[in-house]
Amino acid sequence: MYRKTFCEEFNYSFHIPKKDQCQTCAVYRNKEVAGELTTDLKLAFEDHIKRNKMCL
Ligand SMILES: [Zn+2]
Repeated sequence: MYRKTFCEEFNYSFHIPKKDQCQTCAVYRNKEVAGELTTDLKLAFEDHIKRNKMCL
């Protein structure tokens, strides 16, 4: 039950900017939109996503 709720919230916030959005995702999104992504940022984000892989 916890996992389902977490995943739904994760996927929801992943697509829709919210005030309580995960900081890592929010920073990545902002950089992506600004065209300021670096290799380090991409790797860090990929690692972040892997930690939530069960949701994707
Ligand atoms: Zn995140």
